[in-house]
Amino acid sequence: MAHPLEALLVLQEKDRKIAKLHREIRDIPARKADIDKQLEGGKTKLNQAREALKKVTSDLKQLEIEAAAHGEKILKYKNQQMEAKTNDQYRAFLQEIAAAEKQVAALEDREIVLMEHTESAKKIIAEREAELKEEEDGVSEEKEMLEERLSEVQEDLDKLIADRERITSTVNPSLLAKYDRLFKNKGDFAVVQVEGSHCSGCHMKLPPQVTNDALNPDKLVICNFCGRMLINLR
Ligand SMILES: [Zn+2]
Repeated sequence: MAHPLEALLVLQEKDRKIAKLHREIRDIPARKADIDKQLEGGKTKLNQAREALKKVTSDLKQLEIEAAAHGEKILKYKNQQMEAKTNDQYRAFLQEIAAAEKQVAALEDREIVLMEHTESAKKIIAEREAELKEEEDGVSEEKEMLEERLSEVQEDLDKLIADRERITSTVNPSLLAKYDRLFKNKGDFAVVQVEGSHCSGCHMKLPPQVTNDALNPDKLVICNFCGRMLINLR
């Protein structure tokens, strides 16, 4: 006659796999979040590049406004200059015009620099967009693999649960209830084997009487130290 705990050892094997797969399913959202996090750096870098372009574009616009204002001033001075009554007045306008033209020239120099900055900012944006696109492709591949894994796990789980039902139908219900409680409680093993003269659950040395009783299919032997069910398959 087979020891009743033998069926439970097989059941336990299934239950351990089931628990492992449940853990894997539970961890998947966190793994997805980790994958998304990989994109954050690239997104931040792209946003920084876009902000830099915005800044340089607005600076450039400001310079254009200033240059236009100086241009209007120059026109006004030129009109006034034509109506100058004295040589001194005429020279004064000439000086004003020269000063304004100098400012316009300086602004134009700065505009050229900013236009170069605009070009390089656009180039940087294009580079970072390409980098991000590549990262996004990698990420969606990783996520796809995760989805595939999830459906594999689900399939395995369904099989294991069916196996489990088949096994439990052969086990005495009160023994099964004891096992279920113990397995849940211990989180690893409810049934353990005697190894030599030790409990393989807690590794404590067992009295000879216990190791002997654990051979007997008619006796339910519990380890005094860890409370797990003992079976001796010597
Ligand atoms: Zn033990």
